[in-house]
Amino acid sequence: YFISCKCALKKIIKIIKMEKFDPATNIEKLDKKDAYRGVNPIICDSATFMFERAQLMTDTFHGETEGYFLYSRHWNPTTLALSQSLAAMEGTEAAWVTGSGMAAITVALLHEVKAGDHIVSSMTTYGGTFAFLNNYIKKFGVEVTFVNMQDLDAVKKAIKPNTKVLYTEAMNNPLLRIANIPELSKIAHANGAKLLVDNTFTPMIFSPYRLGADVVIYSMTKYVNGMNDCVAGAICGTQDYVNSLIDVNDGTAMLLGPVLDPMRSSSIQKNLHTLHIRMKKHSENAMYLAKRFKETGIKYNYPGLEEHPDHELFTSMMNDGYGYGGMISIDMGTAERASAIMEKMQELGVGYLAVSLGYFKTLFSNSGKSTSSEVPDDIQKEMGMSEGLIRFSVGLDNDPERTFQLIKQAIEATR
Ligand code: PLP
Repeated sequence: YFISCKCALKKIIKIIKMEKFDPATNIEKLDKKDAYRGVNPIICDSATFMFERAQLMTDTFHGETEGYFLYSRHWNPTTLALSQSLAAMEGTEAAWVTGSGMAAITVALLHEVKAGDHIVSSMTTYGGTFAFLNNYIKKFGVEVTFVNMQDLDAVKKAIKPNTKVLYTEAMNNPLLRIANIPELSKIAHANGAKLLVDNTFTPMIFSPYRLGADVVIYSMTKYVNGMNDCVAGAICGTQDYVNSLIDVNDGTAMLLGPVLDPMRSSSIQKNLHTLHIRMKKHSENAMYLAKRFKETGIKYNYPGLEEHPDHELFTSMMNDGYGYGGMISIDMGTAERASAIMEKMQELGVGYLAVSLGYFKTLFSNSGKSTSSEVPDDIQKEMGMSEGLIRFSVGLDNDPERTFQLIKQAIEATR
């Protein structure tokens, strides 16, 4: 009896393990060798494609042929290969890759709305996204309400009959607050709206589509590529959705045309295969620094430790094994002090005083004066952003204690 129970248990564990969603394994399962048995997908360096028969071209225009390509603003074999890997990572049916993260964001947003529609957006987003929603989209007659996404009642109250989109970052920039994707998804769907989630800070850690988002957006410039050698973006969703984005008559992606180049698609595809290792190490190093900041009394913000207001929520949504991410911030009180510390850190070799994130070297910037400078001062205050906030994108340093000592030295030198 005992043995049969043990066997049944083993079977159940095996099933649970088999069902576990693992973004990295999903990418690995795809066979991407090329037609010539090269181990990497071939770079298809063509803008246009030929057809043996005229009818085939007509059918391809109408999306009725498989294995045929028309024109690289629509699909290209190399961009398709990368898109399929991203879809596997996200658990979506499809994806489409863009020339920048902002291209992905603006295309995905514009695709959902027409004049007279309404968007509810998180108040805390990347500055460029905020500027697009606050300053730019108005000229198309689209209204936007900014809310604190942590306050689900405020989100519900902000919804109007013409609300088409709820927009948020999975991990908010720059305060590292976490969006409650399952609850936001319920609110959006109960009101006939779509939930669009920017997962740039937390690839593999969160799988927003599986948590209820309709569309997942990336700036691949950051962690996904991880090499800081290009800008790129991605939009992931259902096959029907991606088809509608690239519809030749009214697809926003097809008509605005911000497609990613095949050369870049190929280099990003290769880097995607180390993303899981990089995410683990970014998270490990950030966790190490957070613990050392805590021990030494440095005012820090990191969702991996229990004091963070969204630690539990983070834990409830995360995939196994990728940690709590590589973003961490410290509060140095004033912008002047933050500047002095950042200059000293650069001099000591902690990393670079530079915007962006997800690089193998540590990058740091004062959010209020850089990546969030498009956000007006009063809204920065309302968001809870201190002017002395230094945001770190923690790199892949082999010895995080050394990194910590250098940061400490920079802080002490500027007292
Ligand atoms: N989304 C987030 C969260 C970002 O931090 C950024 C850029 O910093 C973007 C989108 C925009 O991406 P890109 O610079 O690739 O256009």
